[in-house]
Amino acid sequence: MICSLCNFPITDNKIDDQGRKYHICSKCELIQLDGKLYLSMEDEKKRYELHENSADNKGYLTYLNNIITNSITPFLNPGNRILDFGCGPEKTWAEILKEKGFRVSTFDPFFDNNEWMSKNYNAITAIEVFEHMLSPAKDLESLSNGLRTGNYLIIRTMLHDNNWDTFKKWWYKEDPTHVSFYSSVTINYICKTWNFELKQIKDLCEIVLKKL
Ligand SMILES: [Zn+2]
Repeated sequence: MICSLCNFPITDNKIDDQGRKYHICSKCELIQLDGKLYLSMEDEKKRYELHENSADNKGYLTYLNNIITNSITPFLNPGNRILDFGCGPEKTWAEILKEKGFRVSTFDPFFDNNEWMSKNYNAITAIEVFEHMLSPAKDLESLSNGLRTGNYLIIRTMLHDNNWDTFKKWWYKEDPTHVSFYSSVTINYICKTWNFELKQIKDLCEIVLKKL
């Protein structure tokens, strides 16, 4: 098989302690769950509806406000247009951005499927989205095409350190909808391939890219 991000032939396949198979790309360091283990779209949607991502969840609000402080305020100004890509059923993140004065649009393949590409955005945010991507190259092509020079792609996903012994015990991969895992090498590959400048990797999870 070939890597679904960089098309490099994959020869490294490993099984974790739960018996799940992962494909590890030696070129871009993407680690992807074996396709046979993906949930059906129906089960995937059900799982997202269970996420505790509402404004009633104080821990979640703190988490989102930290992203504002670290990855939004340093790069964007109130009044800027932001697309929240993969907004989920609750749209809590979009609401917080609106409260901060941003003009916000939303897109989600399950909950808010619309023609987002036709508009111009200063930034696209993908909060807890990249780990769900079955075809990251396809999604990055769309995201890249939706941004112009100087615009930002702001990603929240936890990066792995390309160490299988750590990875196989990692809580982050236990969610059955988490299928794609990236390292800092993967992020650099994304920058080179889709013409982004890496502006920030904070705490190995908040990534800010600027379109060149
Ligand atoms: Zn790859």
